[in-house]
Amino acid sequence: MLDYRRFKEINDLFAAGRTEQARHLLMELQSRCIALRDEMERLKVQIRTFEDILYLSKNLSRENGFYWLTTPGVRQGPFCPQCYDTMGALIRLEKEDYALCCPYCGQRHALPRPPVAHAPAGRMARIIPFVR
Ligand SMILES: [Zn+2]
Repeated sequence: MLDYRRFKEINDLFAAGRTEQARHLLMELQSRCIALRDEMERLKVQIRTFEDILYLSKNLSRENGFYWLTTPGVRQGPFCPQCYDTMGALIRLEKEDYALCCPYCGQRHALPRPPVAHAPAGRMARIIPFVR
């Protein structure tokens, strides 16, 4: 915390002609101001990080092994579970043939294949010969 009475003290020292002492005290205050500014910037970053964590805890959900982010009106995802669990990074999975793949860690998640259409047994196409 900055002690504002020191400014009055500096002013009194200048008024009394004790400029060297006043200058020394002024340098101390300047150093303290710089340290406070650095601390304030560090705390701002910390607050922003906590706000991000709070936002994710309210809006991130895990369904069927994937992470989804729900924002007002939009559901985003799926995001890679490996990257979020290990680094806290939301990496959107990309769809490939029957799999979701992470472009960062390369993890693949197989998707269920659609059922292959089979002709019902006993119902084969019937070949009708041309009449000669
Ligand atoms: Zn990943």
